[in-house]
Amino acid sequence: MPLKSFLNTFAGNPLDRASDRRVDPAWIAAKLAARDSRALAVWNGRPLLEPGPDGPQVAYLPAGMAEELSGGPERLLFLGLWKDAAIFAVDLEGTADPTEGPLAGMGAFEDLRGAALTLSPHEAAIAATAKQMFEWRRRHRHCAGCGEPSEVADGGWKRKCPACETEHFPRTDPVVIMLAVHQDRCMLGRQEAWRAGLFSALAGFLEPGESIEEACARELFEEAALEAVSVRYHSTQPWPWPSSLMIGLIAEVANDQAAPDQTELAEVRWFTKAQARALIAGTLAGTSIPGPMAIAHQLLKSWSQED
Ligand SMILES: [Zn+2]
Repeated sequence: MPLKSFLNTFAGNPLDRASDRRVDPAWIAAKLAARDSRALAVWNGRPLLEPGPDGPQVAYLPAGMAEELSGGPERLLFLGLWKDAAIFAVDLEGTADPTEGPLAGMGAFEDLRGAALTLSPHEAAIAATAKQMFEWRRRHRHCAGCGEPSEVADGGWKRKCPACETEHFPRTDPVVIMLAVHQDRCMLGRQEAWRAGLFSALAGFLEPGESIEEACARELFEEAALEAVSVRYHSTQPWPWPSSLMIGLIAEVANDQAAPDQTELAEVRWFTKAQARALIAGTLAGTSIPGPMAIAHQLLKSWSQED
């Protein structure tokens, strides 16, 4: 039975990661050579897309073509199985747009943030997974233990140091993002650098040694001098800029005496559920929130629809 959960943009990757089989280089090689294997091309973090019947879609290449373009396993990633067909990704770098060279006529490389809501949720999640994995590879080419160049393993899901044999795994950085609520109102904040009128939920990185609830309480206190009395989980969102996992929370706070710290937060404002629904609809004059791709939007929307 499929997992039932709230799906934010970039969650819901439908591929079978086949983590038990991707450790076998011979199996990966056979899948790369198989006629039905496909590959997503990513150029400097941008997925290759093409027009489809219902809007843009991933322009999959034959896997063999991706292998040729990759120049070797270092820039190839086994993403998973779609039914029996293997899906790979190839990481293309450099200043020359490959659609003006070897990929001419095969689509265009598009910014994932801009394309995320027009892609199908499945394809947005697949592209985000590839982007996050390639960001990790780009930043972690050397062994953190001894400094030697590390080598790709497990279809791209691990790196191994040939000198000291340390294994390195892709990182995910947890971020708590929370809607503070008190009685029948919720609080949103704005940072000085944001465009005028834009408000969002407070957020911050989880630190080592903290539980999710503790990180939420600390951030609310540090940024807005608010005391959390209870924290409930809403949903999570993989966020591939470069490797975050947004953990969406709704936090009941002791009072509404918020004091923005003036460092991270310049201003806070409290909204009723009716105002929150107007923010979602984009009809609250002079005030706006991030779009539906953002988990902050989904947190506010869910809370505004609660009884
Ligand atoms: Zn090493």
